[in-house]
Amino acid sequence: MICRRRILVRGIVQGVGFRPFVWRLAARHALGGWVLNDSLGVTIEAEGEESALEAFAGALSSQAPPLALVTEVLVEERPAEGAGAFEIRPSDKCAPTATLISPDIAVCDDCLAEMRDVGDRRHGYPFINCTNCGPRYTIIEDIPYDRPRTSMKHFRMCADCRAEYDDPSSRRFHAQPNACPVCGPRLSLLEEDGRPADARLDPLAETVGRLGRGLIAAVKGLGGFHLAADALSDAAVARLRQRKNREEKPLAVMVPDLAAAELLAFVAPGEAAELESPRRPIVLLRRRPDAPLSPAVAPGNDSVGLMLPYTPLHHLLFAAGGLTALVMTSANISEEPICIDNREAVRRLAGIADGFLVHDRLIHLRADDSVVRHFRGRAYPLRRSRGWAPAPVVLDRRLRPVMALGGELKNAVCLARGNMAFLSQHVGDMANEETFDFFRLTINHLERILECRGEILAHDLHPDYMSTRYALGQGERPAVGVQHHHAHAVSCMAENRLAGPVLAVTFDGTGYGTDGHVWGGEILVAEYGGFRRAAHLLEVSMPGGDAAVREPWRMAVSYLHRLWGPAFIDRVPGLAGRLPAEGLRIVTAMLEQNINLVPTSSAGRLFDAAASLVGLRDRVTYEGQAAMELEAAAGRDPAAGTYDFGVDKDGDRHIINTLPVVASMVEDMARGAAPGVVSARFHRTLATAVAEVLERIRQAEGLNDIVLSGGVFQNMSLLSLTADLLERKDFAVHWHRAVPANDGGLALGQAVVADEVSRVRRG
Ligand code: ZN
Ligand code: ZN
Ligand code: FE
Repeated sequence: MICRRRILVRGIVQGVGFRPFVWRLAARHALGGWVLNDSLGVTIEAEGEESALEAFAGALSSQAPPLALVTEVLVEERPAEGAGAFEIRPSDKCAPTATLISPDIAVCDDCLAEMRDVGDRRHGYPFINCTNCGPRYTIIEDIPYDRPRTSMKHFRMCADCRAEYDDPSSRRFHAQPNACPVCGPRLSLLEEDGRPADARLDPLAETVGRLGRGLIAAVKGLGGFHLAADALSDAAVARLRQRKNREEKPLAVMVPDLAAAELLAFVAPGEAAELESPRRPIVLLRRRPDAPLSPAVAPGNDSVGLMLPYTPLHHLLFAAGGLTALVMTSANISEEPICIDNREAVRRLAGIADGFLVHDRLIHLRADDSVVRHFRGRAYPLRRSRGWAPAPVVLDRRLRPVMALGGELKNAVCLARGNMAFLSQHVGDMANEETFDFFRLTINHLERILECRGEILAHDLHPDYMSTRYALGQGERPAVGVQHHHAHAVSCMAENRLAGPVLAVTFDGTGYGTDGHVWGGEILVAEYGGFRRAAHLLEVSMPGGDAAVREPWRMAVSYLHRLWGPAFIDRVPGLAGRLPAEGLRIVTAMLEQNINLVPTSSAGRLFDAAASLVGLRDRVTYEGQAAMELEAAAGRDPAAGTYDFGVDKDGDRHIINTLPVVASMVEDMARGAAPGVVSARFHRTLATAVAEVLERIRQAEGLNDIVLSGGVFQNMSLLSLTADLLERKDFAVHWHRAVPANDGGLALGQAVVADEVSRVRRG
C-alpha cells in the first residue's frame, strides 16, 4: 500500500550531513518526496510502500551520521500525492527554532587522506573539511546554519566546490565551510610586529623551521590562537613561560598521533579513545618518568596534558617533519580570553610571539580546548569547551527557559530550554573587562542560536561576583540566587538524573555561604529546591583573606596556631627557618589579636595547609597548585594508613575536626616520614572521615545516594579513595561525567535550582 508521511527529526541534525543521508536512505527504500532543514530540525515528507516507510523511519536514528544526535522522531500521516524523485529542498527560515548546532569537530580521516594525496586538488590544503568534520559553533553567526550566516560568507565558492556543495552524493553536499586552495581561506605569516613576512617564504614551512629553532609562534586555530613552542626544548619552553608570565601552570602538549602520545605518557584504552575522538580534548595522563619532554612543561606534576592534532593545519605542522611535540597553550595574557582576531592577536601578543601563522577565515566565537581526565574508564571533564559546546546535557525533566550565569572563576554559562541544558564553552576568570565582554557575548550568542531568551536569571549568592552584579543589573528579568555548593550538588544530581534528596559532598576552594562565611568543605542533604548543611569541615581562620589563597603557608600557620597557640613555632621544627620572618610575625599577630581573619570550612584551604606542612608548597602561582602537587606527591601504597580525626556535633550538624589530622602530620614529619607518605595518609584520612560522617547521616536520614562535586574532586586520588570507601559501605555513589566538578559545571546546577525554586514560588 502506498502511504505518505511527514517526519520531523530533532536534535543535532543540521551541518552534520543529515540531509544527504536522508536522500540516500530514501533512494535505497525507493521513496519519493523531499527533505529540508527548518527551524525545528529536519522535516521530511516521504511517499512509498508502507513497509519501506517503516524501515526508513527506523533507520533515521539507528543509522544516523556520526556527528548527528537524534533526540526525537515524530511521524504523522499525510494524503498521498504521487511523489516523483526524492529531492533536497532549500532551508526554511522561521521561528521558533529547536535546532541544535553541532560543536566544532576534528578533521575526518577521509579529508586527511585527500589532503595527503598529491593528486587531489586539496593536497596540502590547511582548510579542507566536509559534512563530517570541521568548524561549526565557532563560525556560526545565526541560525539556520547556512553559509551566508557563517564567517565563510566572505568566500565565494569556485565552480568545483559549488558542484560538490550541490551534489547530494558528495561528502561535501551542503558542507557550509567547503573550500579549496582556489576559492577558500589562505594562510599567511606575520612577523612579530604584525608586518607581513617576506612573500617568498612559505608560511607553513617557515613557521615549522622557526619552531625548530626554539622560537615561539602564534598559530590561529579553530576556536582561537595557540602559542606554540617546541615541547622538547627547555630553552623554548622557558622563553614561552617567561614571556607569558606563567611561572609554573602546566602547559598542554600536542603530539602527531597516539604512538607519539604513548612515548610521553601511560595511555589506557579509554584514554586513547578520548584522545582520538572527534572532540579531541586535552587528556590529562600520567607522564612517563623517562618522557623526553622539557621538565618545564609541567613542573611539580606527575601528569601531562596531551592532545592530538584536530585541524588540517595542525597535521601539516607535524607532517613537515622535525617537530614531535609542541606546547600548544591558549594565546592570552594571564587570565584574559583567548585571542581570535589577527590584528587583536598581534596587538595583545606583542613581545610574546616571534611570528603569527594566521589565515583569513574569521573566528566568530572563541572556544578554548577542552580538558578531561579518565576515571574508571570514563571521561571525567575538567573543562568542557571546544568539541562539546554547544551540545546539550539532556535532562529527565523539562525546565522553563533559564539563563544561569555561573561563578567567578572558570566561568561558563548555561541556557536551559525544555529537557536540554546548553552549557557554554569555557568563558574564564571574570577578573578583567575582556572576560566580562566575552561573558555577555556568549550569553547573547546562546540566546540567539537557540532562539530562546532566559525568562529567569540564575546567579551565585556572592554579592561581588561579576555574574551576580550582571544578573541583578538586568532589571526586568527575575533573578534567583543559588548557594554555591547547592549548585555544585545539583549539577552532579541533574546529570545523573537524581532529583534527591541525596547526600552531596561538595568540596572546593571557595563559595559564599548562607551565613556569609566562606564555605568549601560541605556535606549537604540536597534536592533541587533546597538543601540543608548536614556536615562540614571545622572552620578555621584565613589570615588576611585572599592572601591566604596565594600563600598556603598562612593556612598551615592558622591550623597550627589553633592547635597550640603561639607556641606552635617550637612544636614544628624547621618552620621558622623556612617562612619569611616578618610575614610569620604579622600572621601570628593577626591570629593572636583576631584581626583580618576570615572563617572558612574550605577543603581547598585544608589541602593548602597540608601542602605547606609537608614542605611542598608555601606559595602558589596558579589556582589549585598546592593541592595538585600534594596529589602528585602522594604515594600509591594502600597500606599507608590513616590519621585520627574527630567528629563533633553543632546542633544537628556534624563537624569534621581536622585538628588531630594536622597534629599527626606534624608528628609524622618530625619522625622523618617522607612527604609522599604523609600526603597519602592525609588523602586517605579525609576520605575516611567523609565516609564515616556519611554513615552517621545515613542512619539519621535514611538516604543512600551520594554525589561528589566541587573542584577538590578534580583530585583523582581523593575521588577514587572516597568512591571506593563509600561503595564498600554499600552507598550508591555518583560523580560527574558530563560537566566539570569545578566551577565550570556550576551553571547547570544553578539552572535546575532556579527552575525548581521559581516553580514553587509561582505555586
Ligand atoms: Zn571531513
Ligand atoms: Zn573551491
Ligand atoms: Fe566551587
